Amino acid sequence: MGTRRKKLNENGVGLYVHLPFCKSKCRYCDFNSYAWTGQSLQSYVDALLIEAEQRIKGLKPQTVFFGGGTPTFLPADLLSQLLEELNRICGFRASSLETTMEANPESVNEERILAILAGGVNRLSIGIQSLQADVLEAYDRVHSPDQARQALALAQQHFQNFSADLIFAFPGQDPERWRLDLAEVLNFAPNHISCYELSYEPGTALTRLRDVGRWNAEDPDLCEYLFKQTGEQCSAAGYQRYEISNFCQPDHQCLHNLAAWQSFDFIGIGAGAASSMAGTRRHNIERPDAYQAVIENGGDPLSREERPNAETVLFEHMLMGMRLTQQGVSRQRAKRQTGLDPWQEYRDQLVDLGQQGLIHADGDLDQICVTPRGALLLDHILMQFLPSASV
Ligand code: SF4
Repeated sequence: MGTRRKKLNENGVGLYVHLPFCKSKCRYCDFNSYAWTGQSLQSYVDALLIEAEQRIKGLKPQTVFFGGGTPTFLPADLLSQLLEELNRICGFRASSLETTMEANPESVNEERILAILAGGVNRLSIGIQSLQADVLEAYDRVHSPDQARQALALAQQHFQNFSADLIFAFPGQDPERWRLDLAEVLNFAPNHISCYELSYEPGTALTRLRDVGRWNAEDPDLCEYLFKQTGEQCSAAGYQRYEISNFCQPDHQCLHNLAAWQSFDFIGIGAGAASSMAGTRRHNIERPDAYQAVIENGGDPLSREERPNAETVLFEHMLMGMRLTQQGVSRQRAKRQTGLDPWQEYRDQLVDLGQQGLIHADGDLDQICVTPRGALLLDHILMQFLPSASV
């Protein structure tokens, strides 16, 4: 296994590429993703490449992330074409420290893996979610536990850097079953693992079921227990929790996400993709058909653009930086990017949270970080920094 000693540049740019189609829609999913109903995937890729020509020519991104949706829903030849053309347009193969593609087990096969490896992808992130057939079925996932195992085995065989996503806190989850799931995934030695608590986002099928009493959310005490158990199990296997829900082997953080959590600039292309460049936020039209139509008519798929004020940007620094359990919020970087000093703006809240043992700061107050107890109460901590809660 190769070691990476690659460092992000604070002034570098990340590139996000959105591929919105999935085989079907999972119950808990609130991403801008769509069950594929026969649309031309080639037409979507064509539109994406036109947008790329317009917005990222010569970009030389420091990281690239193909997310979705299910990027590997595209056939191998279309993936090859997309990667080849994107590289011609923005030169990512030479510049990118890490090029990740998300995948789902039912679409991971050797043909696609060889195509994306040849195209410059060097990190695969597989959505496993569970190895229990009843749980996968309840989530409306379309793959079986065995397909998940096969995908992990293929990733292990072909990638020097791969990640697995899991979800815990399925209603009535037996901690032992969760422990066994996690142990089995850890046995494949992914370099990175994301363990998310099942969440109930507005507008999802799962939230509607809960709201009409047909799905019982798990007891918060058990969720907290599972969160701690997950941390202990990953730690015993040699993984560090570097973000609330993310663990990695030493030096294998997801660089693309790490940059975003540190509020570095990024450009997103594709339906619904967001960008944040030099203080300006941009969002593309969400629906793939509308996105494509605008591009095919020679237009810009911009949906909205805004330039938030310094207070809002500082709040976002806190929101994202506090998730980083090792690095936390950099006071100096926040000052450079917003002109505001978090220690001045949030002095009362920070002193109070420090006294409660929920955050700590280093000696010169540059890094402000949650404590292990604070990690359990992150939502409460973040509420303190809401602009309306500021004093
Ligand atoms: S596969 Fe992923 S993106 Fe697609 S619906 Fe399921 S959770 Fe959402």
